[in-house]
Amino acid sequence: MRTPLDLELVALTKRYGTTVAVDRVSHLFPGGRYVCLLGPSGCGKSSTLRMIAGHESVTDGAILLAGKDISRLPPAQRGTAMMFQNYALFPHLSVIDNVAFSLKMKGVDKPTRHKAAAEMLDLVDMGSMAARMPAQLSGGQQQRIALARALITKPQVLLLDEPLSALDPFLRIRMRAELKKLQRELGITFVHVTHGQDEALALADEVVVMNNAVIEQAGPARDVYNMPNTEFVARFMGGHNVLTVGGMKHALRADRTRLVQSGEGLPVSVASVEYQGAHVAVGLVGAPGGDLTALVPEAEFYASPLTLGDSAVAQWSPADLHPLTQ
Ligand code: ADP
Repeated sequence: MRTPLDLELVALTKRYGTTVAVDRVSHLFPGGRYVCLLGPSGCGKSSTLRMIAGHESVTDGAILLAGKDISRLPPAQRGTAMMFQNYALFPHLSVIDNVAFSLKMKGVDKPTRHKAAAEMLDLVDMGSMAARMPAQLSGGQQQRIALARALITKPQVLLLDEPLSALDPFLRIRMRAELKKLQRELGITFVHVTHGQDEALALADEVVVMNNAVIEQAGPARDVYNMPNTEFVARFMGGHNVLTVGGMKHALRADRTRLVQSGEGLPVSVASVEYQGAHVAVGLVGAPGGDLTALVPEAEFYASPLTLGDSAVAQWSPADLHPLTQ
């Protein structure tokens, strides 16, 4: 394991003509973390990642790795490596030659590069597939090869652009665990771009939420989920209601929103009932300030089930209200 190096973005900016894709973003990624860059489509995640990788030029600002400005270096000299969404494997090269490709470009002789590639294939549990062609592999296997190919350059920072989006949901969850394990074993920084909040919460030591070309909030996954700063973050992370109490907007977790038949609270009526297994999501209308959702534990819901059109009262503990700044 190598000493993890800090990655820092300093007023990093990307403009495409008049479009500002990344707007003076400054952020420190402490070394050795699993970071997820999370946000809706078009918010600037990929542009940020591609600038770190060197696949996109920096309009303004700097990218520092261990204090050294890498923002004008060619991709291969940065200490970063990128794994692409579509894996971008060479179809005419065997698995081992795909993995060894960057070493070949550096002029490393065949026995040495094949030995290094075989080690990388073992790392991703693909040692037995070295002679196969990419077309003979499943999506999950191709992804492991793409990972091995990125890691063979011994990067300090691995950049992953929507790495799980091409996989079916079952495989996605399995590969998620494997990525996390690999990051822990290697001890390097992973920066993983995703638009899925569940993926970010599952994987990240640190979640960085982007919106409109800037970082809206960053922090440990549980902090971002439990203490969203803004209405955007509360809504994007999901699982929250946004309420106006005392003239101020607050986030309230849907699983802390209780439903009773009468009493103090917000009078509402049931607009939808969705069984989700462990919980039942009850959609509520009629409250001033917008619709709400109560996530009711299954057993509790079915002890006195509600149906569409029923009246109820939504309640919460004041301690569960989290103030939003905007
Ligand atoms: P995300 O990864 O969050 O979906 P992107 O970084 O891909 O966001 O895009 C951010 C903004 O920059 C969007 O408005 C997008 O249309 C624009 N953009 C991205 N790539 C290019 C490009 N090569 N040329 C022009 N505009 C681009």
